[in-house]
Amino acid sequence: NNKEWQAAYAVIEQLEQAGFEAVIVGGAVRDALLQRPAHDVDVATNAMPEEVKAVFQRTVDIGIQHGTVLVIVPAGSVEVTTYRTDGKYTDHRRPEQVYFVRSLKEDLQRRDFTMNAIAIRRDGSFVDFYGGVQDIERQIIRAVGEPQQRFAEDALRMLRAIRFSAQLGFTITADTLAAIQYQAADIAFIAKERIKAELDKLWVGQAVYSAIVKLADSGLAAYLTGHFHAEDWRSFKTEDRLVGWAYFALLQGASWQEILRDYRLSNKEMAFVKAVVTAFEALKSGWTNQHYFMYTEQELEAACFLAQLRQLNVPYPQQRIHELQAQLPLRHKQELVVNGADLLKWSGRMGGPWVKATLEAILQAILQHELPNDRQQIKKWLEHNGFDNA
Ligand code: ATP
Ligand code: MG
Repeated sequence: NNKEWQAAYAVIEQLEQAGFEAVIVGGAVRDALLQRPAHDVDVATNAMPEEVKAVFQRTVDIGIQHGTVLVIVPAGSVEVTTYRTDGKYTDHRRPEQVYFVRSLKEDLQRRDFTMNAIAIRRDGSFVDFYGGVQDIERQIIRAVGEPQQRFAEDALRMLRAIRFSAQLGFTITADTLAAIQYQAADIAFIAKERIKAELDKLWVGQAVYSAIVKLADSGLAAYLTGHFHAEDWRSFKTEDRLVGWAYFALLQGASWQEILRDYRLSNKEMAFVKAVVTAFEALKSGWTNQHYFMYTEQELEAACFLAQLRQLNVPYPQQRIHELQAQLPLRHKQELVVNGADLLKWSGRMGGPWVKATLEAILQAILQHELPNDRQQIKKWLEHNGFDNA
């Protein structure tokens, strides 16, 4: 297997040698059964957090109150979590308390879906009390236990079910889906950051359209910020979650910035979305060198994809973005061979807002091939046009 699995196996071996039980559990097991690449390989153990820390030389407390210790071994770093059960849920979000236990079965019972409640031992045998392996074979998402109760405990699980259906193309069982319908309103209790993290994964899923149909049909969408019209998503497919957010933004109309901010996108994420949305708008009257200059290739590609989805009736240079950008007379502002100091010297004038405006005018003239990026030529051009209204 891959490196992450080897690191996890090394950790399990050491815990076993110290007399504890340890397994790989959760997403990594599910993804291995699906032959999908794993990202985090999580280990669960009957050792208490302090016991885990005593077994290994290098550990980092990353969530000790939830029983999670990061263990660093030569093969990599592994999150090790003590078997636990969740205490009472009173806010539809988080248990008030967690209890460390020595039983794997109890730990698996607190997990959301059967496919996420499978453990694998170092010898390769599965621990599967809830029929997860069979559900994976049948491509089914099923709550562990009583779906209504599980969603009442933590409302995010409803959105996770739909996100997994997008990611894996699985079917949600009728009773699990019915429970989502019944309890959809509880999603309002969930922090926006957690919802965003699920949508991040939903956008890049293989079955986004049918997932959004489920969001809408279950009533969940009504309690999420923004509009989710399933039909808009029929042909949507991307590997970049930010393209998902950009498309979502585009579908929201004028208030898209408020809506995305509500999901707590970072400034960097917002900047990308804004670039794509404005590039998309600009495409309606065609892109000039100015656009090829100010947007990245990735942003322009995303805007073209969105134009395709919106069936924008203009030609878009999908295949030629790279080429057109490569042909630009200059790619970055820093490549401009004159600067503000040059303008002050040549004009003999005092500094002011005109300096920036003039540099911008020079840049535009160069991008439009009216002027080469050459000091002497620029100087002459300025003398001819006047420094004010260059
Ligand atoms: P991904 O591949 O997206 O990371 P994952 O299954 O690993 O999917 P995580 O959020 O990383 O999802 O959680 C790891 C495991 O923890 C899950 O497989 C599941 O067993 C359990 N889990 C996570 N979130 C919840 C939850 N809200 N309720 C119950 N169990 C959960
Ligand atoms: Mg995970």
